[in-house]
Amino acid sequence: MRSDTRGFIQIVALALILLVLVAVGMVTGILAGYLKNAPSVEDVDVEARRSLPTVVYDANGNVLTKLMVENRQWAPLSSIPQHLIDAVIAVEDHRFYEHHGISVRRILGALWYDIRHMSPDQGGSTITAQLARNVFLSHEKSVSRKIWEALYAFQLERRYTKDEILEFYLNWVYFGHGVYGVQAASNLFFGKPIDQLTLGEAALLAGIPKGNELYSPIKNERTRQNALNRRRIVLQRMVDVGYISPEQAAPAADEPLRLASQGGKLAPVGKYVNFMVRDYLLKKYGKDSVYRGGLSVKTTIDLAAQRAAEEAISRLLPTGSTPETRKDDSSLTYPQAALVAIDAQTGQIRALVGGRGEDEYNRALKAERSPGSAIKPFVYTAAMDSGYTTTTVVVDEPVEYPMGTGTTWAPRNFNGKFAGPLRLRQALEQSTNTIAVKLMADLKPDKVISYARKMGITTLVESGTRNDRGLALALGGLTRGVTPIEMVQAYSSLANAGVRVTPYFIMEVRDSSGVLLESNVPTREIVLDERTAYIVADMMRGVIYSPSGTGRRADIGRPAAGKTGTADSNTDAWFVGFTPDMVAAVWIGEDTNREMRYPKIGVIGSGKAAEIWGAFMKKALAGVPARDFTVPEGVLTGVRVCTASGQLASSSCPEAQVISEKFIEGTQPTRVCSVHSHVDSIDSDWQGDPDDATIDQTDAAVPTQRW
Ligand SMILES: [Zn+2]
Repeated sequence: MRSDTRGFIQIVALALILLVLVAVGMVTGILAGYLKNAPSVEDVDVEARRSLPTVVYDANGNVLTKLMVENRQWAPLSSIPQHLIDAVIAVEDHRFYEHHGISVRRILGALWYDIRHMSPDQGGSTITAQLARNVFLSHEKSVSRKIWEALYAFQLERRYTKDEILEFYLNWVYFGHGVYGVQAASNLFFGKPIDQLTLGEAALLAGIPKGNELYSPIKNERTRQNALNRRRIVLQRMVDVGYISPEQAAPAADEPLRLASQGGKLAPVGKYVNFMVRDYLLKKYGKDSVYRGGLSVKTTIDLAAQRAAEEAISRLLPTGSTPETRKDDSSLTYPQAALVAIDAQTGQIRALVGGRGEDEYNRALKAERSPGSAIKPFVYTAAMDSGYTTTTVVVDEPVEYPMGTGTTWAPRNFNGKFAGPLRLRQALEQSTNTIAVKLMADLKPDKVISYARKMGITTLVESGTRNDRGLALALGGLTRGVTPIEMVQAYSSLANAGVRVTPYFIMEVRDSSGVLLESNVPTREIVLDERTAYIVADMMRGVIYSPSGTGRRADIGRPAAGKTGTADSNTDAWFVGFTPDMVAAVWIGEDTNREMRYPKIGVIGSGKAAEIWGAFMKKALAGVPARDFTVPEGVLTGVRVCTASGQLASSSCPEAQVISEKFIEGTQPTRVCSVHSHVDSIDSDWQGDPDDATIDQTDAAVPTQRW
């Protein structure tokens, strides 16, 4: 061999060795760079990265809403069926239980693929490496990311058991359409929990993560076909790996696809409820817990009642005015409305609507509005506690009161007429303004305010130049106004024999592991004499069921009581009412206190509120047996009174003038009718013997009302 040739070979060899050394040095350098920034075991905390939606339920376990950044429902490994686990392992990483998170063969294979195709490999990562990618790394595909994946996977395997890694993976993997994890995917595609998946469905699910756009069974016909083809491949892999027999695979591969119906989903219900719950949770638990922490929130809402409330408002309330015709700044539909209903015994909010669905402003909680005559039950409660009775006669007539400023105030009735002498029961049924003002003048506003306060109204203004300590209080002319939620609270004391309940909507909150964070119980307080509460509630039944009642459109065919309210100039329309089981308030009005008078519709008043209340209550109470208010001890019922005298009816009184009334024991008339009795004038101050009078304690004998 010639020496120059040998020299050339030596030079080439040297160059090659140098080249190899440089290459090794580079690779070592690169690797050292990776290792310097490599994750530690502490860095691979999967639980800390977990993001779970907070699920909000109604009182019966129906889902109201989910608060989340990602749609995921965590499924413990023990709840995941074996054939789904097998399918995933078979198709993604059949040596999962053998390797240490990284498969050298796979990485070299992937690198070789990258070099040959000059593009990063599409798959080939172990389950652990995929988990590392999903949890810790960006989703871009690059050669260097493969190395990061391997480093993270290595540490994941040191920190967690195989089963833990598998559980993380199955709950973390993305299935497209915004859903993460096998449980949420099963719900989306098949509309059922994972433990009900067939082998074919499990295989189809397992095939999706390879390309969630490509293999979506619901995206389009082509991807559906892809998904079915891939199902066959997954099943074949399961046979190859030995998880199932060919005899099991064949029918599963031919299983017809039964997808959950995607269309026709109900419109979201409870928009204002969801805002209310969200705001409450954010304030109490913070953004991280609410949007990532997977809280489980049981509310007091009854989904059926909630639907009934929304349906009644949208069906019965016209669109009085649109932005085009109104030309004001707001883009809202008018009139706006609010409805809130609570369980009478517990205060649990069963339904709440805060507006017509176009904004987040919750009028049921926040709108302070003039109650109009819906305030009168407070006046009558104070009156019944102060010696007045259902049969006390007060004259409905023109009256004038000095206003202190040199002017006088002459309250008028809604219909502009005066009815003359009326019993208080009639005056409340007909909502006679003059009589309410006369009562107020006698009782004094401070006394009525104290009743309204203890019953639950907090917005009355008692000091300052503008305050509510005037006679106009009797008609709901207030400085600030009242909120619908406080009106149901206040009326609850009448529905509930003097016991006021405090409205609430969170039953309990649990963290993602089921640990109880919060649990609420009813707050009940005795605020009224139960006899007084019963008598006032009984008088309010006539608002709905008496022929002259103002709230007859609230007829729900069962014992119920309530009060209408219309503010001056028709800016506010109310109906607040109750049965022994439920208290509900309906308010209608414009946010800017405008008169509700609309072209082609006319004026919207309390009759409309009563109608919405009635429609709602009928549906909300559909499954609840009708029952009557319980007569408390110390209340006399069926007391026969002659309306000509207001005294006990005798056999001489004409039947047409005799009514059956209820009294707090001790306040009932004790004298026999002096108008029709044969007793001569000398005996006119005869004290009477109740045993001689026709007191019928069974009530049923002479009903004055429908119940
Ligand atoms: Zn008589």
